[in-house]
Amino acid sequence: MTDMATALKGKPIYPRIHIEGNDKVSYAVSCRHCTDPICVKSCIAGAISKSDGVVRVDKNKCVGCLTCVLVCPYGSLAPDESGVMQKCELCLQNTCGEPACVKGCPNRAIVYEERGEYE
Ligand code: SF4
Ligand code: SF4
Repeated sequence: MTDMATALKGKPIYPRIHIEGNDKVSYAVSCRHCTDPICVKSCIAGAISKSDGVVRVDKNKCVGCLTCVLVCPYGSLAPDESGVMQKCELCLQNTCGEPACVKGCPNRAIVYEERGEYE
């Protein structure tokens, strides 16, 4: 267990990406910023939008109905501590030049690269 994992053990965390796998293999799951995002279509409050290739949530509009959680095929959305939806937004506010998950991974297991849009 890493120092970070030890420090966070037992504490509530509200991640924007999730780790799936087993004791041998694990991988990070995050938003694919789909070409035709079903989360955008399904949001009853018009809180999810896509622009410049990035799907994002307007927290001021979200009413916490969880519909987007049910429809996303990748499990990419999860509520924050206040019940408002959050997701990976490619660190749009981040000025360090790479997403925080990439910068923070101690094993450099996450990379960011342009691959085009997913269907
Ligand atoms: S939240 Fe899910 S459905 Fe919406 S763009 Fe991301 S991966 Fe696609
Ligand atoms: S939880 Fe928020 S973002 Fe998701 S569908 Fe409901 S209002 Fe929209």
